[in-house]
Amino acid sequence: MASTLTDRLSHLVKTMRGQARITESNVQDMLREVRMALLEADVALPVVRDFIARVKDKALGQEVVGSLNPGQVLVSIVQKELAATMGEGVADINLAAQPPAVILMAGLQGAGKTTTTAKLAKHLIERRKKKVLTVSADVYRPAAIEQLKTVTRQAGAEWFPSAPDQKPRDIALAALDHAKRHYFDVLLVDTAGRLAIDEALMAEIRELHATLNPVETLFVVDAMQGQDAVNTARAFKEALPLTGVVLTKLDGDSRGGAALSVRQVTGAPIKFAGVSEKIDGLEVFDAERHAGRVLG
Ligand code: GDP
Repeated sequence: MASTLTDRLSHLVKTMRGQARITESNVQDMLREVRMALLEADVALPVVRDFIARVKDKALGQEVVGSLNPGQVLVSIVQKELAATMGEGVADINLAAQPPAVILMAGLQGAGKTTTTAKLAKHLIERRKKKVLTVSADVYRPAAIEQLKTVTRQAGAEWFPSAPDQKPRDIALAALDHAKRHYFDVLLVDTAGRLAIDEALMAEIRELHATLNPVETLFVVDAMQGQDAVNTARAFKEALPLTGVVLTKLDGDSRGGAALSVRQVTGAPIKFAGVSEKIDGLEVFDAERHAGRVLG
């Protein structure tokens, strides 16, 4: 297990005791350690560089007040900047649309889209008292349609049938029509994923977006993806106007640096974190707590 950033910085903190100001050389030494910590947490290199530049600007010349020493001040600047980069307050699901509010789920295969769709359904039923319908537009994997049916039941929501011989756009239109006629508040649309970025898949999800005009387009990404999360995020951001991110598998042992990369690349807030395989394993993303985890 790598030592925590606080441990790594403690020797630097000691040498700065009694100083009234943070000097350029203090900052350089500290930022070298912060850079290492972020890279170990799998934050993408360009994202690390930007972050370090911002912290440097904030830290240089900063007065040291009260009982804190420059090292402690720097650690707190890093932590605050990290939390600010990953989020601003609580970003819940936006349902401000003529019902049904449509939520489109996007992401690679295996990211956790189907599981997250059901988790969100449960969240919206229990916390927001909504009537929720789910549908799968994944016509390539019949098992994915069945999986959504099973988890939707567990969530206590309703499931709209679809079949592999249908076109995704037709499924979307039929589900939308059903949701309208039966007064559903929310329609959650699960989509096909591939193991890697694929132009045909992107064209398909763009068409679904144009058909459904969703109030939320959520990018679901596996926190364990580490460095690769950046490329995936960039491709989905270019294809779709993303409104939020769900970071799954945070119960794994990754340091979750993907949060920082994905937030920066998509510009969309991280709304939820997946914290188990179970249907209730969804938490509202807490940027401050996550900052502590990333730094270790
Ligand atoms: P999809 O292909 O994007 O629809 O992904 P799935 O929803 O089928 O999820 C892929 C695998 O990841 C399944 O085994 C899920 O149980 C698992 N999974 C999804 N979210 C989480 C999570 O937050 N934590 C853990 N541990 N497993 C998850």
